[in-house]
Amino acid sequence: MSSEFDFDVVILGGGAAGLMCAWTAAARGRRVAVLDHANKIGKKILMSGGGRCNFTNLDIHPSHYLSANPHFCKSALKRFTQQDFIALVEQHNIAYHEKSQGQLFCTHKAKDILQMLESLCATYGVAIFTDCNLQNIVPHAQPTSAGLRFTCHTSLGRFQAASLVVATGGKSIPSMGATGVGYEIAAQFGMGVTALDAALVPFVLTGPEQTAWQTLSGISCLAEVNCNGKQFKDPILFTHRGLSGPAILQISNYWHAGMPIHINLLPNQTLMSLFAQWRQLNNKQSLKNALADYLPKRLLEVWLQDAVNAKPVLDFSNAEITRLSEQFHHWSLTPASTEGYRTAEVTRGGVDTNDVSSKTFESKKQPGLYFIGEVLDVTGHLGGYNFQWAWASGHCAGCYV
Ligand SMILES: Cc1cc2nc3c(=O)[nH]c(=O)nc-3n(C[C@H](O)[C@H](O)[C@H](O)COP(=O)(O)OP(=O)(O)OC[C@H]3O[C@@H](n4cnc5c(N)ncnc54)[C@H](O)[C@@H]3O)c2cc1C
Repeated sequence: MSSEFDFDVVILGGGAAGLMCAWTAAARGRRVAVLDHANKIGKKILMSGGGRCNFTNLDIHPSHYLSANPHFCKSALKRFTQQDFIALVEQHNIAYHEKSQGQLFCTHKAKDILQMLESLCATYGVAIFTDCNLQNIVPHAQPTSAGLRFTCHTSLGRFQAASLVVATGGKSIPSMGATGVGYEIAAQFGMGVTALDAALVPFVLTGPEQTAWQTLSGISCLAEVNCNGKQFKDPILFTHRGLSGPAILQISNYWHAGMPIHINLLPNQTLMSLFAQWRQLNNKQSLKNALADYLPKRLLEVWLQDAVNAKPVLDFSNAEITRLSEQFHHWSLTPASTEGYRTAEVTRGGVDTNDVSSKTFESKKQPGLYFIGEVLDVTGHLGGYNFQWAWASGHCAGCYV
């Protein structure tokens, strides 16, 4: 006989946003269930930040988020701030530190964050069901006398709920349990979904560009990367397939197929000014040795011909310096593609925020249905911004469900 469960709130997805919403609602006295099809909850938290979870950023601002409606994220980010999450982390005695640019990481392991959320869920009596496959959602024509509005048919039985929260995340890393189910649910209830794409993702190069740079696989250097009117100054990393590293992941949020990207390999000084200094100091070094203070030698060996690398810096003509400057400051290339959802940290685009209340996160098309976290069309920069969005949207919905 199939099991039947009644809850005030059923949350689909036990990730960052779902767990945050779950304990917040349960702390208000709501009876809450979290359903996840994976065998464990919070898998992305565990793998995040290289196993240390970059759980927020000291500098949270709406300008760090992409969305067709850039105003949508403002209210939740204001109502549940990075300081609110930091306070939670401190109450649970989790050691953390700032790595760079305001990025806060666990000092020990990402598991500390998941354990904190699990312990909050346990404290307030949240029921968690893993290995639970959703079959379909049937909205009731009228709420029952107990206020129940939805029946979710699953592999573990029927779950009825007054409020149904979709916290199923994006499509990135399917091997970690990501599915597009949240977008299908939105479509079922007549809500829009904006164009979806892999984001915070490495670029793939093909042809001569891949052949030229793949021998640099593993080499990284500071660079300024420009695309589509945005620029980021951070390290880039040459990979076997193309380019990665923080600056590339950041710019991938803004890249669309066919767009060129522009890279400045010497973002902190102009080559012109370096040559002027070398001339003034009567620097007798070869170009490769003189530039080794600024760029990896291996990169220079691949980037420049042997004769150019070996040439003393004092022997370069102004015309040659201008040509070299172009090469170092204005490297343009067009990625063939990104590595796609297999390695992307997030999904750009999502459930259309015009169809969702920015205060409660309830659907404007279906009373009692809520969307939170990455499934929405809100995509953060690299640096703890995506988790802060998950905590903030999860918390705010948890106050209303
Ligand atoms: C490798 C990696 C590293 C990252 N590092 C960071 C970082 O350091 N800092 C940062 O801010 N962001 C990071 N991110 C992004 C961050 O993990 C996500 O933005 C965040 O987890 C989104 O939270 P969410 O709750 O919306 O979705 P998720 O955390 O993805 O949770 C969704 C949940 O829904 C479940 N689910 C999916 N489909 C179904 C279904 N059909 N039925 C039932 N359950 C379902 C999934 O199993 C999962 O448990 C990283 C992402 C990746 C992939």
